[in-house]
Order: sequence, then C-alpha cells, then structure tokens
Amino acid sequence: MYKITLIPGDGIGPEICKAMVKVVESTGVNIEWEEVIAGKNAIEKYNTPIPKHVIDTVKKNKVAIKGPITTPIGKGFRSVNVTLRQELDLYANLRPIKTFKGIKSRYEDVDLVIVRENTEDLYTGIEHKLGEYGAESIKIITKEASKRIIQFACDYVNDNNRNKLTCVHKANIMKLTDGLFLNIFRSICEKHDFEYNDLIVDAAAMNLVLNPEKYDVMVMPNLYGDILSDLCAGLVGGLGIIPGANIGKDYAVFEAVHGSAPDIANQNKANPTAIIQSAVMMLKYLGEQDKAIKIENALKHVFMEGKVMTSDLGGSATTQEFVEEICKHIK
Ligand code: NAD
Repeated sequence: MYKITLIPGDGIGPEICKAMVKVVESTGVNIEWEEVIAGKNAIEKYNTPIPKHVIDTVKKNKVAIKGPITTPIGKGFRSVNVTLRQELDLYANLRPIKTFKGIKSRYEDVDLVIVRENTEDLYTGIEHKLGEYGAESIKIITKEASKRIIQFACDYVNDNNRNKLTCVHKANIMKLTDGLFLNIFRSICEKHDFEYNDLIVDAAAMNLVLNPEKYDVMVMPNLYGDILSDLCAGLVGGLGIIPGANIGKDYAVFEAVHGSAPDIANQNKANPTAIIQSAVMMLKYLGEQDKAIKIENALKHVFMEGKVMTSDLGGSATTQEFVEEICKHIK
C-alpha cells in the first residue's frame, strides 16, 4: 500500500482531484491519500498558504499529487508552487507534450518533453525596489543547478529511448547566466551518444509553432520552461490535457500544467485529463507500470471515440461524465 499526499488546491483543483482519485482507484492500486490543504483555504485557516505540516507530510510520504493553486499577483503571499519546489528541492520539472488521436489540434504527431529547471533563474523571488525609480529582479543561474538539470535531461533521453536533446537559452544576450547554462549543456552532452543542439528562446518559440514534430527532449532554465510548456500545451489541444512532475533526489510532486481556472470552477466542466495524466506519471514513478498503462489506454480509447469530451475539447460532457467514461474503459 502506498501513502500519498493529496493537495486538492483551489479553483477547479478539488473537482479535478476528486476525478483523478476515482480513476486511479478504479485500476485497483492500493493508495491511502493523506489530504492536506494549501493556498487560499490554508490562508483562512492557518494564516499561511503553505503550513509547515504540508511540507512535512510530503517529506514523510515522499510522493504528492496536487491540484492547481491560485497565486495572488503582485502582492500577498509567496507562491505555494515555488515554495514547494524550493523546500523539497524538486529541481526537475518534467512536462511531456503528446498529441492524442481524436483531440482536435493543429498538429498530428507532436511527442516532445520539456525538462525545466525548477529552483532558480528569475523564480528565486529576489526582488527589490529601486527607490521611487522602479524595481529589480535577480536572475540566478548556478553551475550546480545547471549541471544536475542537464544531467537529468540526458538520463531521461537515455532511459526513455529518446533520440535528441535541445537546449533553449538566450545566451546571445545574457552571456554570463544563460551562457553558463549553455556551456555546461555542451560539456555534458559531448560525453553522450545522442544528437544534441541548442536554440535561442525566441527562435524556439517560432520553430515549435512551425514544426513541433521536429523536437524531442528540450532542456531549459525556469522561465523559458514555464512559457514554452504553455505554448506547447496549445499545440496539442490546450492546457486541460498536459501533465507535469516536479522531481528531486528524495521527493516528487505531480501536478497539471494548468492553473486554478477560476472562470470555470465549481461548474462540473473542467477537463481532469491533465491531473489524470499526472497521476499516470506518478504511478510509473512508483513502479506501477501496468496500472499506469491501463489509464493511458482508457484515455486513448475515449478520445479516439470522441463521444464523451469536455467543453474545452469541443464536447459537452461534464467532468463527472468524462470520468465515468474513463473508468468504464479501465475495468
Ligand atoms: P489557468 O491555467 O488557470 O487558465 C487558463 C485558461 O485555460 C482558462 O480559460 C481556463 O478556463 C482554461 N483551463 C485551464 N485548465 C483547464 C481545464 N483543466 N479544463 C478546462 N479548461 C481549463 O491560467 P490562469 O487563468 O492564468 O491562472 C489562474 C490561477 O492559477 C492564477 O492565480 C495562477 O497563478 C494559478 N496557476 C497555478 C498553477 C499551479 O498551481 N500549478 C499553474 C498555473 C497558474
């Protein structure tokens, strides 16, 4: 039996997490969910969006899955997501972007993976005011963090029979920070057999829109990874389907790429596929390949049939109807 920390989050978080739990449990896997709250609801109860016991339970269980959490813009508390990634040293953010037959999108054969550095760059939160003049944010790129994320990406290529690794950067302008990342990328990759290249982030954005089929595994600093993973979600049918995993040496937290979607919260119309696919990644991480594949096959089947689709994918099914259809194909 596994004990997994479940953080439902807010907005559509609780409804998609409930859907995910139902799908996962229908595979027969034995999981005890330890549910804790973080985000808006935690502020009301504990006066902090991320109480210490939340971090402690993930440390104890080693694996967590979380729904999206609303981040107040410009003021208030620090992002729960960033805090979790930093406190648990979840240095690698993995986002597989793959087309599903049956989901309408502009492209047919996208199968790429974004490996995003998760702990530094402009996300360390080191910002200060410059008097009345403006404000400053510090971009940090270190040797150690760059080495381990690039090594992680190389291992991912080798372990998953991938063929090529692309580094995304802006080293032509940020010569010291992105330049360091790129130099480390080149020095690590030359020791491997697979093909590798690099791309400036603006060119990467254009090329991904023109020919996403050409890309395989891509590794990049935090900010570019954040932006390009949403762009890539748009290539294959939108945010509702793309999963994510935050992985460190000791712990892993699985979560959808999308946010809390307050515009559709509590309407029973959110697409739970992204969090279900995150659970598939979690089951594989736990070594439960068979159960993970059962869910993947059910998703493929339902999308291929195209009869029960949520509204973001052009259908009219509710979250609940979609989940029931998935569970029907798991049994
Ligand atoms: P969002 O991803 O919540 O929503 C963008 C658009 O996509 C909306 O129109 C929404 O309805 C739609 N959408 C997203 N997920 C969907 C789903 N599963 N099914 C159907 N439609 C879906 O992005 P946003 O509106 O920019 O952010 C809302 C809040 O979420 C913000 O506070 C942001 O900081 C936060 N956020 C949290 C996370 C996280 O917790 N991991 C990630 C991104 C954004």
